[in-house]
Amino acid sequence: MSGKTVQAIVNTLKGRGEKITPARKGILEVLASTDQLLNVAEIYEALRTNGVFVNYSTVYRTLDYLSKNNLIEKLVVTGENKYKLLKHREHIHHLICKKCHSTQPFDYCPYDDLKDIIKAKTNFLPLEHRLEIYGYCEECQKKHNSNYK
Ligand SMILES: [Zn+2]
Ligand SMILES: [Zn+2]
Repeated sequence: MSGKTVQAIVNTLKGRGEKITPARKGILEVLASTDQLLNVAEIYEALRTNGVFVNYSTVYRTLDYLSKNNLIEKLVVTGENKYKLLKHREHIHHLICKKCHSTQPFDYCPYDDLKDIIKAKTNFLPLEHRLEIYGYCEECQKKHNSNYK
């Protein structure tokens, strides 16, 4: 499934006359292969693991380019930039731990209902959304049981 996603994105870019560099394709593949939010260091490492050897500044530049083109999404999670592939239609949200900063995918989206409510109550036309839930993961709750109850 992820291979198909990347191929579809690559085709869209080619259709716009954009160049498909190894870094662009590589980063899309890295982000398509995980449900986790990744930071720049993790993306850099994953690229090397996949045999794509580019330097840090290329990774930064490419992430910028992909975000500007709405292909990936940059989230600031507790002060750190993290990235995920922007999947249109089929997508997931994340639960983010305030203590250990771990992220876990959450396979439910209330947006469709919310969109109807917004349309019913206002003249606003909703197009897109972001939703991250912050709290404490299971591990952190166990470790600090008394503090968070
Ligand atoms: Zn945690
Ligand atoms: Zn959603």
